[in-house]
Amino acid sequence: MTTEGNDAREGDQPAPRLATRSPVLVLNQNYQPLNICDVRRAISLLGRGKAETLDVTETFVRSAYAAMPAPAVIRLVYMVRRPLHQRRLSRREIFVRDGYRCQYCGTQTRHLTLDHVIPRSRGGQQSWTNVVSACTECNHHKAGRTPSEARMKLMREPAPPRPNPYAFFHVGQMRDSWRPFLPWLEAERAEQAQLAGVAAGG
Ligand SMILES: [Zn+2]
Repeated sequence: MTTEGNDAREGDQPAPRLATRSPVLVLNQNYQPLNICDVRRAISLLGRGKAETLDVTETFVRSAYAAMPAPAVIRLVYMVRRPLHQRRLSRREIFVRDGYRCQYCGTQTRHLTLDHVIPRSRGGQQSWTNVVSACTECNHHKAGRTPSEARMKLMREPAPPRPNPYAFFHVGQMRDSWRPFLPWLEAERAEQAQLAGVAAGG
């Protein structure tokens, strides 16, 4: 059983409604994070045999039959097949995909711009396959031309980044007791931190 500041505080409060609304991490049958529900929903899933408890909080909640520790992490006993969330196209996500590297000259810098490979004036789309990171020099040199017209070569064919399996997380939702169940999240964060270092360092 893991203890966490929030849970300890909640445990002191005689407020069962609060406890039933606490967030619970839901893992798929294969242990991949699936979504976040509240304790009420988690208890319903457990009661119907659709999930098992992997971790609990110190808070007790009353079910129809007895008081039980509020679940913190549950795992479904069946597999939910769901497409992963595609990352939303944004300036920052383009830079992250490209490793903060100009896709024409390869310079790694925080002074990046977005370049439309096929210029918008020629009908180029705002899409993962047509927007790349470019340093200001390269962007200026390319101007309103296609790469071949400007005799410039892309380092690689732009493509959508791999899906983000944690898109369902909102800032501040993360609970320390969930960390052992989210090993991929730590890797993702380490990568983001490294890129943020590049972005800040220039
Ligand atoms: Zn460049």
